[in-house]
Amino acid sequence: MSEVIQSHGERPRIDVDIVCVGFGPATAGFLTTLSRHLVGSDGTPKFKSRVCSGMPLQVVCYERADDLCFGVSGVVTRARALRESFPELEKAGIPTLAPVTLEKVVYLLDPIGASSRPFTLRFVDRLIRLFGWCLPYREYGFELPWIPPFLRKHGGIVFSLGQFLQWVGSQIMSTGAIQIWPSTPVSAVITEGKAVRGVRLVDQGVTKKGEPTEAYTPGMDVWAELVVVGDGPFGSVSAQLDREFGVPENYHNTEWAIGMKFVVELPQDTPLKPGTVIHTLGFPEPGIFGFMYVYPERVASLGIFVPSWFRSPVRTAYRYLQHWILHPYLWRYLKGSRLRSWGAKSINESGKHAEPFLAGDGYARIGENSGTTNVLTGSGVDEAWASGVILAEAVVDLLEQGKPFTRENLEKAYVLRRRQSWLEKEALIAKNARAGFQKGFIWGLIGMALSGFTRGKLSLKPSFDKGTGVDPLTKYYAGKLSPKEIEQIKEECAARGVPLHDAIMDRVGWPSIPFDGQLLVSHQDVLLLGGKVQAAPGYADHVMVMDPALCKACEEKTCIEACSGQALMPGPDGVPVFDRDKCVHCGACTWNCTKLLSQKPVQSNIRFTAGVGGLHSAEN
Ligand SMILES: Cc1cc2nc3c(=O)[nH]c(=O)nc-3n(C[C@H](O)[C@H](O)[C@H](O)COP(=O)(O)OP(=O)(O)OC[C@H]3O[C@@H](n4cnc5c(N)ncnc54)[C@H](O)[C@@H]3O)c2cc1C
Ligand code: SF4
Ligand code: SF4
Repeated sequence: MSEVIQSHGERPRIDVDIVCVGFGPATAGFLTTLSRHLVGSDGTPKFKSRVCSGMPLQVVCYERADDLCFGVSGVVTRARALRESFPELEKAGIPTLAPVTLEKVVYLLDPIGASSRPFTLRFVDRLIRLFGWCLPYREYGFELPWIPPFLRKHGGIVFSLGQFLQWVGSQIMSTGAIQIWPSTPVSAVITEGKAVRGVRLVDQGVTKKGEPTEAYTPGMDVWAELVVVGDGPFGSVSAQLDREFGVPENYHNTEWAIGMKFVVELPQDTPLKPGTVIHTLGFPEPGIFGFMYVYPERVASLGIFVPSWFRSPVRTAYRYLQHWILHPYLWRYLKGSRLRSWGAKSINESGKHAEPFLAGDGYARIGENSGTTNVLTGSGVDEAWASGVILAEAVVDLLEQGKPFTRENLEKAYVLRRRQSWLEKEALIAKNARAGFQKGFIWGLIGMALSGFTRGKLSLKPSFDKGTGVDPLTKYYAGKLSPKEIEQIKEECAARGVPLHDAIMDRVGWPSIPFDGQLLVSHQDVLLLGGKVQAAPGYADHVMVMDPALCKACEEKTCIEACSGQALMPGPDGVPVFDRDKCVHCGACTWNCTKLLSQKPVQSNIRFTAGVGGLHSAEN
């Protein structure tokens, strides 16, 4: 049995043919394709269950979030795989969907003077200011006159992933052949030796530490011929597989980013047309990228990514997002807007480098945790979906041939197909596209251009040893804050029991945020506004510190500084305190913890397991 599973008593058990973990685009692509092959042209089931005699094939999917729309991703996508599945997607009636009409990539200068810009960038900024009169430069934003083809989304669409998944979920369930269960986290896979035999759902009626109470109900065991793991960028089931079965020799998952976003209602007189896509770079810090996608009806999805290569130990996405919104180039559009919902989620930016073993006896992996995200084109939805489609085609082949879901059969039917697909070809082109960012922002851009323009033939050499590294405060803010000032700030914040980031940013020149209660609200208030779902009682905490001694000795406590929901706060003995009700399940803590228990795969001192609660807004 698996390392994670501890039995407390009798468990209910069911047997199915196929069980899926998570309902993101990857599993949605898998189930959509599979569902179209389950019923014959005469309306009768095409495949008999191998585990329930006399029944049709039993397929079930468990999603952790409380509805089928934990997307947290406003999406721009070329939608090649999506359109292959749904040629009439534009007519599906998804309210946020619009064709891409205008694309801009904008380099944002720093109008405040608070960001940490290297000398070369400050020089570039000066040149742009000097020659701004003859350049596409306005409101401290330099619009790139030309967008490299690998970044363009021309012919693509924008939409809310949450709304899209709700629509897809209803299509799949309407076939009657597949069940999808939201609010049902999978705690682990059931393993026997090197084979996966099913999944175990989380226990209920337990304390926060997982100890049984009087109301204890053991999570059900779901035995299955095939377990499809599509649990996203920081999925705990994927992490379990990597721990138990190991990872390929060249596997590295050291690149990631935390995406934080708002969905806003734009002012009545907005000049922005549906389908407008704006990507930014350069501000609030050079390595922080931003995006704005405009949906129909004056709704926009906008946000930033705080990446792993950003060396600040106080990397708070929320405060940076507000400064980004207030940048003059964007503020002229956003002033007078109203916040509708908010979200945060990690993105695994290692791409092909973080491809695990894609299949084994009784299981197959799809989506972001199988290395699908394309880090050159900044695209993950279509790729995750495509991986699900490829697996479904393979599964149908094996069902038709009456073959079992062994490693050998899945390798031939699924992995081989994937190797021959456009997904693989493009993943190889993008493989080292982000390599330069480890050396700095300018090197990062050079690296992306090199990979993009040579179609991956040339690239910078990646370095994998910096994963969750940050600089000490004294180094990162050298020249801006003296060690004495830093100590003073630390003492003040410790006395108030708050993270450091606001005090540090205030002191190095970031202006305070002019809260308006409408778009610019405090970090506490955004939890109340943005679709936050309270965690139901009776479940174990899903964020756990593995070794408290490491926390006591940890200087930077980046987990607290980076926590998207302020769910991790300073504790009296140096160990962060976790408040489940504030957690938005973004995974930032596990990536941002600087103390690693293992490097390959990166596993930090925070273990993230699937739990209840989090965010729920279909618009996300
Ligand atoms: C802010 C942001 C903006 C983005 N913008 C774009 C964009 O413009 N274009 C683009 O193409 N891509 C974009 N992406 C990336 C894209 O969203 C992902 O690549 C894509 O969603 C990956 O799909 P997936 O199915 O692999 O995983 P996910 O979408 O993460 O889905 C996994 C699902 O599994 C569930 N789950 C996890 N563990 C368990 C468990 N143990 N039990 C049950 N359920 C579980 C999760 O709740 C989740 O619903 C963006 C990402 C972010 C964070
Ligand atoms: S969880 Fe990691 S980053 Fe947070 S205090 Fe502990 S060791 Fe430090
Ligand atoms: S504790 Fe929750 S909200 Fe905070 S970083 Fe971790 S997953 Fe995100």
